[in-house]
Amino acid sequence: MHIRQTVYQFIYDVIELIWPSNHCLLCRGLIPATDLLLGVGLCQHCRHDLAAYNCCPNCATFIHCNATPEQLALHHRFCHSSQVQGIDAFIALAPYAGQMRQNLLQLKYHGQRRLAKPLGREIARAWQYTGWLADVIIPVPLHAEKMKQRGYNQCDLLAKACGEILNLPVLPNALQRVRATDVQNKLNAEERKSNVEAAFACEESIEQLAGKNVILLDDIITTGSTMSACAIALQSARPAAIYGLAVAGKLLKTNSFEEFAD
Ligand SMILES: [Zn+2]
Ligand SMILES: [Zn+2]
Repeated sequence: MHIRQTVYQFIYDVIELIWPSNHCLLCRGLIPATDLLLGVGLCQHCRHDLAAYNCCPNCATFIHCNATPEQLALHHRFCHSSQVQGIDAFIALAPYAGQMRQNLLQLKYHGQRRLAKPLGREIARAWQYTGWLADVIIPVPLHAEKMKQRGYNQCDLLAKACGEILNLPVLPNALQRVRATDVQNKLNAEERKSNVEAAFACEESIEQLAGKNVILLDDIITTGSTMSACAIALQSARPAAIYGLAVAGKLLKTNSFEEFAD
């Protein structure tokens, strides 16, 4: 990591320690100090609102409990035609919309690393809620060139915060992005798939994954093509199961899925 980035990270950590973020990640309302000590990032009201959505374990789409029959039929059609290879099940914290979308854009493109901690802790809670078992967390890697530009991988930061809550080891180097890929948001599902195909490689000596349940962690799940490419690269390590965990998944709207950057 560039020395300037290391210094920035240190400053962020010190500020966070002295003056932790005390606003809800979604409504910006204040979070009680007692909850802050537990690392909570959402207020009770927003947590209650999120509970009205179901995250489909097959395609990571968020479906509101008041979805119309037309919306459900749309999801059904999409879900059955979008089997994601290599991933046993998906779970995400929130739909990619409104303030959660802003949070992720800030974290990814505007250097707002302080958001990684509350977001990482909240995705850990979303994971705990599933009751699924895991042994290790692997963040989706950035290409070395992008890592140099950005100075950090937001997925590494999220994985670290998530691992602290779940008490799981994080392996940030288990996967490498061996081929630079285009930004996914202008591509359709087929193009996304071929864009990330063979873009990832698994560390040769990673024997400790054999028979283990792996959490693959990304910031956003769209078509699942990035997760799938990572899962295929991990197959040589023979894990027992691979789960996809993310901050956000696509939102099922009235007549189409919300499009966004992968
Ligand atoms: Zn709130
Ligand atoms: Zn689905």
